[in-house]
Amino acid sequence: MQDTDNDNSCDLFVIGAGSGGVRAARVSASLGAKVIIAEGLYLGGTCVNVGCVPKKLYVYGSEFGKAFKDAQGFGWSVDGVAFDWPTLRDNKTREISRLNSIYDRLLDGSGAQVINGMAKLIDAHTVEVNGMQYHAKKILLATGSWPTKPDFPGNELAITSNEIFDLEVFPKRLLVIGGGYIATEFACIFNGLGSQVVQLYRGDLFMRGFDEDIRKFAADEIRKTGVDLRFNNNIVALARTENGLEAQLSDGSSITTDAVLCATGRHPNLEGLGLASTAVKLDARGYVSAGDNFQTDEPSIFALGDMTGGPQLTPVAIEQAMAFAHTQFGNASKSMDYAFIPTAVFCQPNIGTVGLTEEETNAQGLEVDVYLSDFKPMKHTLSGRDERTLMKMIVDKSSNRVIGLHMVGPDAGEICQGMAVAMKAGATKADFDSTVGIHPTAAEEFVTMRTPRE
Ligand code: NDP
Repeated sequence: MQDTDNDNSCDLFVIGAGSGGVRAARVSASLGAKVIIAEGLYLGGTCVNVGCVPKKLYVYGSEFGKAFKDAQGFGWSVDGVAFDWPTLRDNKTREISRLNSIYDRLLDGSGAQVINGMAKLIDAHTVEVNGMQYHAKKILLATGSWPTKPDFPGNELAITSNEIFDLEVFPKRLLVIGGGYIATEFACIFNGLGSQVVQLYRGDLFMRGFDEDIRKFAADEIRKTGVDLRFNNNIVALARTENGLEAQLSDGSSITTDAVLCATGRHPNLEGLGLASTAVKLDARGYVSAGDNFQTDEPSIFALGDMTGGPQLTPVAIEQAMAFAHTQFGNASKSMDYAFIPTAVFCQPNIGTVGLTEEETNAQGLEVDVYLSDFKPMKHTLSGRDERTLMKMIVDKSSNRVIGLHMVGPDAGEICQGMAVAMKAGATKADFDSTVGIHPTAAEEFVTMRTPRE
């Protein structure tokens, strides 16, 4: 199968070594394809370098502040506690460098050739990197996405998730713009680390797309932790003053802060990619248009991951890459199943979700039973912290299947991952009911809900 005619030819040229590109390159190479992969920035892409991994390390870091306070109700004295930003930041950077070299070794071990450089499409089968041209039977685009900054005067003074991980100086005051995953996670991280955080969301209620009960409950819980969460408000201008950065807001007020984070969505990373020299088309939202088998309008060019406008989640890109590689270079055609993709927002407390929201079931005209449980986690009976957990389950009346499961509370991400397996396997409410709980846990609540909401 390998195209071994010369070093500049390959079966598959992958552009972008993020979660999707690396997996596609490794698996295709292991299936016998001659693979070249080019990356112009960092191995591992957004997830490893400026996304999931460093974010989770910062979430862990930020949770200690609350843990020290909670510990006192359990008899611990925690005087003299202090946080040092450079220690967290630099330890994170060391860990990311370690992961970068693991990615390098994994690619090398798979037999794929790695090229450091920005790749550009010349035509349907030719890619140029560092002035050298490569001929490929197939090309896979996996260049991911890039943060979008709204257009307002002074927006060059604001940062995005690309910069926030490596700030030279810890922001004692932080203004976060946006009400989605990144805004909410970073508002909680910096609040936990000791910043005074204001989070602005332009609409009535943040976390659009999540179940409404969950959105309301999460807003209440996050406010209790100290984040100044404001809705129906937005930034309109930003300027530097002698007291810091002054942000003018749409409600006419202003805020003086040390840093402004725009976490206002991400767009496909297409700059310099040379799409115009091919027949690849974009969809109405500006994402690369690709069919179920990841093929674009140019038959030899494929695309997956964030740049194609599906769920912008690392595990989705990885699953897509597995399906792509097995279909193109394995013996069996594999497709990606988008049903019951679980996801979590690592705000504090976490949000976890699998399946449909109650609003989606209404829109689909489904008859459902809704089970809700709102309780104080056992730990806080002694910690004294005023935090509550919400668990919600949505059951399709006609099939008795659990079709939606949502949670705000500690470890919601961990809990929802397990529940997703059951739901994907078609578990009914009766299956949940006949499952024995693990006591005492929060998760057992999902198998002991007996009375639907009126
Ligand atoms: P999201 O799409 O989640 O949220 C963007 C937010 O910015 C929304 O609240 C949106 O408001 C708001 N917004 C958009 N444009 C403007 C504007 N011009 N002015 C003010 N507000 C604006 O994007 P994120 O950037 O948070 O994250 C990108 C993606 O990355 C996520 O969708 C997710 O798929 C992924 N991700 C996943 C994580 C995880 O799995 N834990 C963590 C982080 C990111 P509105 O709702 O009104 O449109």
